Amino acid sequence: MALEEYKRKRRFEDTPEPPPKVATKAGNRFVVQKHDATRLHYDFRLEMEGVLKSWAVPKGPSLDPADKRLAMQVEDHPVSYFDFEGNIPEGNYGAGSVMVWDVGTWTPLSPMPVNGKYVPGTEAEAAAMLAKGDLKFRLNGKRLKGDFALIKMRGRRPGSKGNEWLMIKKHDDHVVEGYDAGEIDESVLSKRSMDDIAGDARSKAWTSSRPAGRGKLKAAWLADAVAKLDQKRAAAKGQKKKSATPLSPQGTPRKKTPRKVKDKR
Ligand code: MN
Repeated sequence: MALEEYKRKRRFEDTPEPPPKVATKAGNRFVVQKHDATRLHYDFRLEMEGVLKSWAVPKGPSLDPADKRLAMQVEDHPVSYFDFEGNIPEGNYGAGSVMVWDVGTWTPLSPMPVNGKYVPGTEAEAAAMLAKGDLKFRLNGKRLKGDFALIKMRGRRPGSKGNEWLMIKKHDDHVVEGYDAGEIDESVLSKRSMDDIAGDARSKAWTSSRPAGRGKLKAAWLADAVAKLDQKRAAAKGQKKKSATPLSPQGTPRKKTPRKVKDKR
């Protein structure tokens, strides 16, 4: 799959997300990103085969083995997505705030338990388990720890896209009954809440003259573009009674396609 789908879905001149690039170095990190998109969800990503294998988990990962969390496999992401936190502007794929909710390392588990206990496996075993749709692994994160399985659902249910997996905690010393990821609203990178992160985008939209890094510059550019659009619209409104809708070169009325920047909540 490489990163073709990741690339196809995004316009990199318009989003602060990292460009598609397959890593040549092997790594064993994982990340969970809380993502306030159209629907709030958690993106669980495992560094593997030069990319981040990714699943969107609507309810978030759980440390309670009684929870079978739906995890929809989504497109591979570049490894540099690992520490992406910020705001994907409206009008872009996945628009909304992203928080780095957990980070750490992971180890594949051998599909063959020894004396009823799971033991570390190899990268080759991990690749085979992923292909088979039954991936067992151990997490050592700041919040998520212990053994887990991601199991691909075989059932053909109505409307199923065939990308549905279940993420399940295994029984070990790290079990927490009744676990709720939603109770922890703090970035492990910046300590910010989702509101703090979203608030950054709002404040940037009002202060476009701030000296800026790459992400801020884009936000400032967007803020300027939006301000111009607003001026145009205000002017158009004022002229409405005097002149007709401006015509396109084909002579048909121009379609209005304002960029949405309104706050979702
Ligand atoms: Mn997402």
